Amino acid sequence: MVASIIDGKALSAEMRVELRNDVQRYIESRGQAPGLVIVRMGGDAASGVYSKAILRIANDVGVQARLDQLPEDTASDALRAALQRLNSDASVHGIIVQMPLPAHLSQQMVAETIAPEKDIDGISPHNAGNLLLGFPSLLPSTSGAVMEVLARTHTPLEGRRVVVLGRSNVVGKPLAILLLQQHATVTICHSRTTNLSEITREADVLVAAVGRANMVTAEMVRPGATVIDVGINAKPGGGITGDVDLESVRTVAGAVTPTPGGVGPLTNVVLLKQCLQTAWRQSDK
Ligand code: NDP
Repeated sequence: MVASIIDGKALSAEMRVELRNDVQRYIESRGQAPGLVIVRMGGDAASGVYSKAILRIANDVGVQARLDQLPEDTASDALRAALQRLNSDASVHGIIVQMPLPAHLSQQMVAETIAPEKDIDGISPHNAGNLLLGFPSLLPSTSGAVMEVLARTHTPLEGRRVVVLGRSNVVGKPLAILLLQQHATVTICHSRTTNLSEITREADVLVAAVGRANMVTAEMVRPGATVIDVGINAKPGGGITGDVDLESVRTVAGAVTPTPGGVGPLTNVVLLKQCLQTAWRQSDK
């Protein structure tokens, strides 16, 4: 079998067309665009690339986005105050703080300070709790992007066995909950899991969110399975590669996402979609 390659760029383009129309409807109704602010501390190269990508897509779909660049040595109290100002600014509907933070700043402080209704990357305890309880919530965008890929490729989940590799707060855990809500039977694996291949070979859908280049090989995949690669790993000579060894896995799987060009292109669109949602909610008040 040769797997079909899921075209994340095409799915992202499809989502952007829908979002552009939805943003237009918001602007016509409310007389202003949804507003988003990215807060970035210091000069981490990867987060710089990421900020630019968000600004570009925001511009493309009509969301008013700006980057608030703070010095790397910004004190915790100053960052808290900056976030509180954004929380009370009615023109700002969504706030993202770029990770990783400089070592002297606490991720917990940031997650607890961003107003839950503006937390468009789902990092606050409030949104994480709502997600766990099955109440409406803002999602960590990568887990939302994986669910978009599965929905838009009509991948059945109900009653299916799904294995998620990785248990981080930003990807593995929220994704497992979302899959459970779609009535999949979910297994979460991590660095201490034993007999990993035995477990992954049972998966109808296998998601890799580990951060180890090409760790998922054909022997780990059930014939015909859908394999979703979330991993982003820098290649020694430049460029990126995923957690899935595409050349090997595509000989066994039914469908697989490539890296680049798989889940990645949908992530920022999910973020902006959630910014539009929060704008509607805040302007409805
Ligand atoms: P983390 O480093 O926070 O988590 C990695 C997870 O993988 C951990 O739960 C870890 O287990 C587990 N793990 C490590 N080694 C193994 C192993 N040998 N077998 C099984 N599990 C293992 O990473 P993130 O969740 O933040 O990100 C995961 C990947 O996804 C990264 O490559 C990241 O760059 C990428 N990513 C992609 C995004 C996108 O838009 N496509 C967005 C966000 C992340 P343990 O908990 O035991 O340590």
